[in-house]
Parts: sequence; C-alpha cells; structure tokens
Amino acid sequence: MQGTTMDGGSKDIATRTGEATAVDYDVDGIRRDFPILAREVHGRPLVYLDNASSAQKPRAVIDTERAVYEEEYANVHRGLYWLSERATDRFEGAREKVRRFINAAHGREVIFTRNATEAINLVAASWGRTFLEAGDEIVISEMEHHANFVPWQVLRDEKGIVMRQAPIGDDGEFLMDAFAKLLGPKTKLVAITQMSNVLGTVLPVADIVRMAHDVGAKVLIDGCQGVTHLPVDVQAMDCDFYVFSGHKLYGPSGIGVLYGKEELLDAMPPYQTGGDMIRSVTFEKTTWAPLPNKFEAGTPAIAQAIALGAAIDYLTGIGMERIAAHERDLLTYATQRLSAVDGLRIIGTAPGKASVISFDLDCAHPHDVATIADRAAVAVRAGHHCAQPLMERLGVPATTRASFGLYNTRADADSLAEAMEQVRRIFAR
Ligand SMILES: *Cc1c(COP(=O)(O)O)cnc(C)c1O
Repeated sequence: MQGTTMDGGSKDIATRTGEATAVDYDVDGIRRDFPILAREVHGRPLVYLDNASSAQKPRAVIDTERAVYEEEYANVHRGLYWLSERATDRFEGAREKVRRFINAAHGREVIFTRNATEAINLVAASWGRTFLEAGDEIVISEMEHHANFVPWQVLRDEKGIVMRQAPIGDDGEFLMDAFAKLLGPKTKLVAITQMSNVLGTVLPVADIVRMAHDVGAKVLIDGCQGVTHLPVDVQAMDCDFYVFSGHKLYGPSGIGVLYGKEELLDAMPPYQTGGDMIRSVTFEKTTWAPLPNKFEAGTPAIAQAIALGAAIDYLTGIGMERIAAHERDLLTYATQRLSAVDGLRIIGTAPGKASVISFDLDCAHPHDVATIADRAAVAVRAGHHCAQPLMERLGVPATTRASFGLYNTRADADSLAEAMEQVRRIFAR
C-alpha cells in the first residue's frame, strides 16, 4: 500500500472537504481490499457506517474461507489422515494468531465460541453457576450491551445474586468514583464493556481490573468494540475473562472468542458436553479433556476460525495503532460535520471516545432518519442498539448511530452529513 490520502472519494469531494491529514494511511488501497465497498445501493456507491454492528470482510478473509473448503477441509482433532491433520494445524494456527493478537499467555486460554454472546453465556453458566451464591454481587455498567446484561440478570434471578450498575455521566463518561463506591467484599464479578457500542466511550479497563482485584472480584471485559479499535493485551490488562466476536473484527460470522485465565478455566465445569471435549467416556463416568477442548464440545466452526486468523493477519499487517489513528481523525472530522447540522445533538461526548457517533435529530424519529439515509446508500443503524437500559438512562427511545471502521473516509462522513441535511429538508418546517 502506498499513498497518503485520507479521502476515498472523488477529487471534487476531496477538494470540497478541504484539508488533507498527516496520517500516512492508504485508505484507498484498503478500500480495494473489501469487494463489497465497490457495490452500489439504490444506484449510489455504498457508504457503510454500521461497523459497530458488523464489519465488512477483506478479500483475504473471503479467499481464505473459500480455500479451506476447496483445498483443506476435513473435521479437526480426530483424523489420522493427511487432510484432517492439515485442517487441525490450520485451526490451531488460528488459535495461535488470536493468542498473539490479544497477548494471552497460552493457546489453551483461548476458547472458540460462536460469538461474544455465547462466550459470556459460557462464563455465566459455568463459572457463575459454580462459584456465585446468594448475596454475592455483580457490578456491570449502565452502558452494557444486552449480551453482557441479560445472562447476569438470569443468573441473579436464579441464584439470588445482587446486580449493581455503575453509572455514567450525561456525556457518557464512565464515573470511576461512583464505580469505586459499588465495590466491596461482596463483589465477586465486574462484567463490563471496554468500549460502548452506543456512545463510543472507552473505559479505563486496566484501572477497573486493578480496583476489582483489590476487593477480590474477578473481571470479565466485553471486548466486542474495543478489540476492533484498540490494541489489546489481556496480560497487561490483567482481566480474568475477555470476549469478542469475529464478525466485528472483519472476520466471519459464527466465530467468537473467550479468553480466560488458565486457573479459572481449569476450575470451571464444561458449558456444553458431547464429542470432542472428553478424555474418556464409560457408562459410569466421563472425564473432561484438557483446555481448550473442554469448552469446545462438538465440531467447531472450522473454516470460520481459520478465516478469523486471516482477518487478524490483515489487521496486524496494517497495524492496530495506525487503524486507531485513522479512526480518531475520522471521528473528529465526522463530529465536526454532524455538529454543523441544525437540530442534531450528539449523544456521547466523553473525552477519549472512539469511532461511534450516536445522535438525535430534533425533526425526525431515528427510524425515519435511517430510512432517508439509506436512499442515499448511507447505511446507519437506528434503534436501541441492544442497550435498552442505556436508552432509559439517556431518556431517549432510540438513537441513530454511525460507526466507523478502518475503510471509512472523510467522504463517507460528508455523505452522512449531507443525508442528515436531506432529512431536515424533508421533515423540518
Ligand atoms: C455486538 C456486541 C455484543 C454482541 O456480539 P455478538 O456478536 O452479537 O455476540 C456484545 N457487546 C458489545 C459491546 C457489542 O458491540
């Protein structure tokens, strides 16, 4: 990749938006790696701004998944023939790529799941059911995704656990002092997001982990958004569990990751039972396989895991720091552009936030906003973003959300702002 332009759009758009940036980042070259970005929607070039929900896939990921099926596919772990050994090597190779990407100490601490939702349910069902009892406390935040809320609520009702919500400020900032006050000897788990999928707020997770450990609590970090925008080092963070989904990390759907510290995973009972997760089975008794297999019952998502490895290779080839710098620039630019739209209020302005912009337009419901935007081929999400408790806290039924990824451009932000002006022309009187 060469070149230094930030704008992926045509020359007149580049001129219109004015300044270039100092970041050396070939976004045009990156865009060419994503076949879907070349397509049109309603006769106009696609402007994809729903990355927080799911990201598009580079050719390297698509080609890897196809190549697995065309050249190297067989079931993993049990085969004694060449093809199965080859598929197993590639599947375990993908685990090693994940391990390195998040800097886990061992591959056996990396469990493949379907997605982050399944990873959190695994921890709730296995660790939570085994080690929590009535009166124990779980601390979450007001901005959790339902995936990091409902499993704990179900456990609460099942076991008589107490659940506490760490509050946020009106700008979406995580309030550390208020969080500290919720911690105590009864706190057994802090389950918290690294970055809000609605507000873009980035939480000081290393500090949160330290404070939780000081009172003897374990910490689960929901890394779904964080892992796509920030370099992750689970050992430096010192979290006990870390979860994310492949599909938001430019990889396939159907594959996710649970990282857990070995001693915790070792002490936990299996989440699902069946094939591939046993040491021995007799009619009287079954013993479990060692990590990570104990938590990977049944045939896994083989090609998807291998293609997730390709996504990680692709991202590390560019560099997470450089992606983060590009996205910071875009966030600043898009925030300026949207702020200039009459009646548009950005929801979530915490310092250090990352590339998600939720907003409210005073003249139209978010669903109408997203529908008008779609006519201009601008894909944004409208709704509660799987965070209804947060909507309640913010006092809004829904927001419109634009979320930026590594291939988005200033021209995309311009298209979004223009679509919002169009909404005003239609709805505001
Ligand atoms: C998307 C998301 C989830 C759920 O991810 P799935 O892939 O649907 O399991 C959980 N938490 C956050 C913060 C998310 O953005």
